[in-house]
Amino acid sequence: MLFFLINFLLLIFFYIFAFKLINEIYMGKKQHLKINGIEIGKEELKKRFTDYNNLYFNGELNECNFSFFSKNITYLGWYCSKNDKNDNPKDKIWIGTCVKWDDESLKQIMIHEMVHMYVYRIKKCKFDGLFGHGKRFRQKCKQIKNDYGVDALTLPKVEFIDKKNSPKLWERIFLLLFDR
Ligand SMILES: [Zn+2]
Repeated sequence: MLFFLINFLLLIFFYIFAFKLINEIYMGKKQHLKINGIEIGKEELKKRFTDYNNLYFNGELNECNFSFFSKNITYLGWYCSKNDKNDNPKDKIWIGTCVKWDDESLKQIMIHEMVHMYVYRIKKCKFDGLFGHGKRFRQKCKQIKNDYGVDALTLPKVEFIDKKNSPKLWERIFLLLFDR
């Protein structure tokens, strides 16, 4: 009896968690983000993506769409690989809205996510180390840094809009130890 009760409770907790997550990602979806107080839409991000693709990736990357995380999600960026039903790549990069972006830090995170895309699509590597920051990822980041002086490996130093969202000490230590 107790076993069933515990299972039932776990299931309820799982549904609440899943619902909250889906709600955050899909319902909280924003249409733009602010850079120095100026609103930037998805089309502008697509334009920048094309520029960076030509500049740093020889124009090799496929097309990409953009979405914004709601401000309660504390990720800065996320690359999501996907194919449509005709098996054409339909990738998406999510950009966080929990921090105060400027042009430079936004560029850094966009190129960071684009390197993930490069490893997955061009290098055809589905698993490149824990968090995807393995050998191939680092190699490409290093090349971009050497050739163009853009650092896509270290996360940009950005201020969180809501201070309580900024990474805790244990998160920093965890990332320092394992995210490499
Ligand atoms: Zn990453």
